[in-house]
Amino acid sequence: MSTPTKLPELFGSMVFNEETMKERLSSASYGAWKKCVTEGTSLDISTANEIAEAMKQWAVEKGATHFTHWFQPMTGVTAEKHDSFISPVGGGKIIMEFSGKELVRGEPDASSFPSGGLRATFEARGYTAWDPTSFAFIKEGSLCIPTIFCSYSGHALDKKTPLLRSMDEVSRQAIRILRLFGDTETKRVTASVGPEQEYFLIDKELYAQRRDLRMTGRTLFGAKPPRGQELEDHYFGAIKPRVAAYMKDLDETLWALGVLSKTKHNEVAPSQHEMAPIFSDANTACDHNQLAMEMMKKVADRHGLVCLLHEKPFAGVNGSGKHDNWSLGTDTGKNLFKPGSTPSQNAQFLLFLAAFIKGVDEYQDFLRATVAFPGNDHRLGAQEAPPAVISIFLGDELNDVVESIIKGTEHKDSGKRTLEIGVDVLPAIPQDNTDRNRTSPMAFTGNKFEFRMLGSSQSISGPNIALNTIMAEELKQFADELEKSKDFQADLQKLIKKVFTDHQRIIFNGNGYDDAWIAEAEKRGLCNLTSTADALPMYTAKKNVDLFVKHGIYTKEEINARAEIHIENYTTVISIEAHTMVDMIRHDILPAVSGYATDLCERAASKDALGVACKYETTTAKEVGKLTDALLAACDKLEKDLAKTPADAKKAMAYSHDTIIADMGKAREAADQLERITASEYWPFPVYSDLLFSV
Ligand code: ADP
Ligand code: MG
Repeated sequence: MSTPTKLPELFGSMVFNEETMKERLSSASYGAWKKCVTEGTSLDISTANEIAEAMKQWAVEKGATHFTHWFQPMTGVTAEKHDSFISPVGGGKIIMEFSGKELVRGEPDASSFPSGGLRATFEARGYTAWDPTSFAFIKEGSLCIPTIFCSYSGHALDKKTPLLRSMDEVSRQAIRILRLFGDTETKRVTASVGPEQEYFLIDKELYAQRRDLRMTGRTLFGAKPPRGQELEDHYFGAIKPRVAAYMKDLDETLWALGVLSKTKHNEVAPSQHEMAPIFSDANTACDHNQLAMEMMKKVADRHGLVCLLHEKPFAGVNGSGKHDNWSLGTDTGKNLFKPGSTPSQNAQFLLFLAAFIKGVDEYQDFLRATVAFPGNDHRLGAQEAPPAVISIFLGDELNDVVESIIKGTEHKDSGKRTLEIGVDVLPAIPQDNTDRNRTSPMAFTGNKFEFRMLGSSQSISGPNIALNTIMAEELKQFADELEKSKDFQADLQKLIKKVFTDHQRIIFNGNGYDDAWIAEAEKRGLCNLTSTADALPMYTAKKNVDLFVKHGIYTKEEINARAEIHIENYTTVISIEAHTMVDMIRHDILPAVSGYATDLCERAASKDALGVACKYETTTAKEVGKLTDALLAACDKLEKDLAKTPADAKKAMAYSHDTIIADMGKAREAADQLERITASEYWPFPVYSDLLFSV
């Protein structure tokens, strides 16, 4: 395989993309694939065979020996099972073979993926089927085929199937609205997504010495270092050579895989960075974000680094999130969240805006639940990420427009022109909404919404399934009403005004980090689901289940299964963290501080015998002894309480949140105090200043 040197040649060189298909397939097969993707028609087996053969030839030319159905089970990461292309032909020889049947349907014996009871283990074999809307690619010598994953009974067992369903549904409903505005051309409306990904990079050797990082992805202990992010010198600061080399390698790796990696910079905390791609359709964005997370870790390894994707690797400095930029666009190239220049375009924009506002207000609890998991609990509401309360930021100008519509008053635009809000005239909407409010969980940023509550490690699929489906529901309600209207203009105005009025409470343009906002939000009746344990039960609230079932995104069983998986996962994660803590306390910290105290006592005794002052040794030894006992007591309590975890999943979640996390806090407090007074040579693992300033 030749190494492409120029970026345009490098880009997508490991992807069996549209151009490659056009080159390598007969025009009939290429046409069938294209129709399948744009119109949702199915592929017949002879076409599948031809595509499989072409894919295999291409992959083998690039040095691939295996193929895998690459899918996204409900663990939140990707899964793959590799089969080689080899097929025996007798005489001890093989040929490289790959059939259409293997392309469109594989059968991993994947009985150990979480299924939330959807699949009994005795009939464990799920099946996987190629998602022809996402290109196959080569990774580490394997042809990877993006795939959906279902049970034999047809239940979705993955994060891709419902995403594809939600994209279809929002397209269907959006088109109904566009037709009302006289658009006869648009065939498809696509949910577009651009996820900004934050991460930490630390030195691999130091990482290896921290059991907590290896087991849980975050530090469970660590006193505040003398320097954290106070100097504010890291954000957008000059990138260090070792990090720059990593970023270059990462970019090139991602480009070869067709990922549109675009922006890279340092983030707020020391050792924290960000990568943002150019947006694409939600399905591709989701696949690519999974690939990006995987490659971030693998490329780091090549550079003697470890990439931490956990939401809160270090207490006391900012954690990592993911900003999910989301919008809707037509296949004719129009962004439906971009304010237009004519009254009719603006009316359409305002209707889509109204649908979004109504939807976020009505399903704020569900949206909150899509970003609820233990890692993210450390960030949301902690003055470094949006609060746990969902609200929408519109910016001053757009907010004025909305308010003037509600009040029926005149809107003064920035050019000081007074606009009349009459029956057929809607205000000019400010085009450039650059006023960015960094504290809002859901910010309008000119032509898209930025959902800022996602955690850095999570799949972006869940939140986007929710946004698409919520939008589909509201657009459906609007279309149902307006399609019957005898006076479209008048009814449209009335509808927009009513929706803005009824759902104004979800709009908030102030500082989301302010405590006064939380009090205000409660007065407005907004949900304040502060932890995962509060938020996850919303998953299966009746109105939410009804929403997804009605639009065919999840069956009742599928959504219940998902809730169950998330709930169980919560307790599992907390339990692993707690056990790791106990482990480190008993095997590392207690022996170390005991040794330190003993040495201090011995030194004090020998100094004292010679009449040398030994205040330092005696006071420190006493303090270490006191804290050691406190740590031991906290550790004993944690271990005892862990053993009392209730069997029922929901009770276990609440118990882990209320009891285990509190116990862990106590243990950490004692350990961190010990770290502060223990001599460096005794402390059993690298401390924060080593880790955060290691690269
Ligand atoms: P920031 O939030 O840091 O100011 P940018 O404005 O540069 O970032 O954009 C952030 C992300 O939003 C990028 O991934 C970009 O491609 C994406 N984006 C831009 N326009 C859209 C859109 N219409 N739909 C979805 N994502 C978009
Ligand atoms: Mg952003």
